[in-house]
Amino acid sequence: MTKKCILVVEDEQAIREMIAFGLHRAGFEVVQAESSQQARERIADRLPDLIVLDWMLPDLSGLEFARSLRREEMAGRVPIIMLTARSQEDDRVGALDSGVDDYMTKPFSARELVARIKAVLRRTAPEGDSDEVSANGLVMNLASHRVTANDKLVELGPTEFRMLRFFMTHPDRVYSRGQLLDHVWGGNVFVEERTVDVHVLRLRKALARTGHDRFVQTVRGAGYRFSIAE
Ligand code: CA
Repeated sequence: MTKKCILVVEDEQAIREMIAFGLHRAGFEVVQAESSQQARERIADRLPDLIVLDWMLPDLSGLEFARSLRREEMAGRVPIIMLTARSQEDDRVGALDSGVDDYMTKPFSARELVARIKAVLRRTAPEGDSDEVSANGLVMNLASHRVTANDKLVELGPTEFRMLRFFMTHPDRVYSRGQLLDHVWGGNVFVEERTVDVHVLRLRKALARTGHDRFVQTVRGAGYRFSIAE
């Protein structure tokens, strides 16, 4: 299993390094940022598995940063643990409202933080909680985002990847376009239902070389289904 990558965003160097040290020791890969701006750059370089985000940052506050991330397609899916000072405890509700997965009040020990991180990662893990899903020669590695069909690499855009992941983890059931929008795009974005068809087409095209496109089935008047049954 590949190491999970945690992005630690905290401007106070001593605290950031204490956290990084504890996470390293617990077997995580750690990337550090001292501002929201720097965090953006780190995320662009590599999408982390979880973000530990301090509320008080020199530029954008952690709360505003979390809100802006939530509007993004890929980064919006990364779980966030917010670090708050005791004086901000009243604002925790606001933090949870903005899509933060958990929060910790300073001071805390690295051991407590590691336990919280593991709990959040377990809770937010893709369905099945295994690194790989496969169906008839189609193999999707959820950690590395690598998809192969009969051992040939399949190139997928981010939306097609999430769509295929949803299909493969929820096989043999029909989903309407509206349901697919909720599950694949997330409920609070405005996308027309027709967009679903466009991405289904792209997904089929990517899978056509090996004939796996036939598993992505149209159910007339209802929606789509992923099934390896012919
Ligand atoms: Ca701070």
